[in-house]
Amino acid sequence: MSDETPQRGRRRAGVIGKPIGHSLSPAMQNAAFKAVGLAAWYEAIELEPEEAPAFFQILRQPGWLGVNVTVPHKETAARLVDRQSAEAARAGAVNTVVCVDGELIGHNTDIAGFLRALLEDAKFNPDGRRAVVVGAGGAARACVVALAASVVSVTVVNRDVERAARLVATLGEPTVNHATGLAALTAIRDADLLVNATSVGMQGGPAPDGLPIPDGWLPDHGLVYDLVYRPMETPLLRAARSAGLQTLDGLAMLVYQGAAAFELWTGRAAPIERMRAAALARVEEASACSDS
Ligand code: NAP
Repeated sequence: MSDETPQRGRRRAGVIGKPIGHSLSPAMQNAAFKAVGLAAWYEAIELEPEEAPAFFQILRQPGWLGVNVTVPHKETAARLVDRQSAEAARAGAVNTVVCVDGELIGHNTDIAGFLRALLEDAKFNPDGRRAVVVGAGGAARACVVALAASVVSVTVVNRDVERAARLVATLGEPTVNHATGLAALTAIRDADLLVNATSVGMQGGPAPDGLPIPDGWLPDHGLVYDLVYRPMETPLLRAARSAGLQTLDGLAMLVYQGAAAFELWTGRAAPIERMRAAALARVEEASACSDS
């Protein structure tokens, strides 16, 4: 939970997840509310899976702008909202809930955030390109939905092969396939874009020093995009940089998905640079702590 306390009469927002203590969203969203002069307060709310249904009833009470949703609640949130955007329904995951007069509307701003970072920060246009997405969880689904309409192919590679197959089957897009073994290696070698949408490489995650794919499996050319933002240089991005490949970390996507959520809740343009600076300051603070 946040170390600051809300004042009476402020609108409320937050992020639900478990674990949630290290989320950058409170710093980023509170900086945004402050920058536009909105009396609102955003906090990290740690929830067990079984607590989600009751919490979604609380969200129907007056005062709530909405919440962001992270692991492990994104799929549950898709079931608990009253209606969803077409994109959230396609992804099968809700990362942003907007509260309007007691009604709960689900969105997936990871999709727009992923694409905006790709286009604006990496200057990479996916039209007609070949992509590989490593991972088959909520973030991977958002990336695949974002890419499916424009790429020639997007190949899903995941540790749990059945999960990758289910992702491909539920999307039912001709451009989306999955691969293992040699076929996965070939897809990665030929890819213009390799995305890590697993939690491998994440500080405090299951394999902070690991690679999401076997050592040496990198594209011959193109962009390596890691959704992990803490640390900003993951082992995968370090390897890609050493191989002379272009790289993109997950911070820009984090900022853009948060900015899209802010705009849905408030109807105001998000102060992107203030949000980016707040997120970056928190990442730097965390890396200084882990170094000391
Ligand atoms: P998730 O639904 O829990 O999925 C986790 C994924 O990571 C699965 O594909 C899982 O594979 C894989 N994985 C976990 N541990 C692994 C290991 N030791 N070796 C190989 N694969 C492993 O999580 P998510 O919501 O998709 O998030 C994934 C990552 O994306 C997280 O690091 C998250 O912080 C990041 N993310 C970033 C942004 C952003 O804005 N930059 C937005 C969303 C998510 P299995 O299926 O085999 O278990």
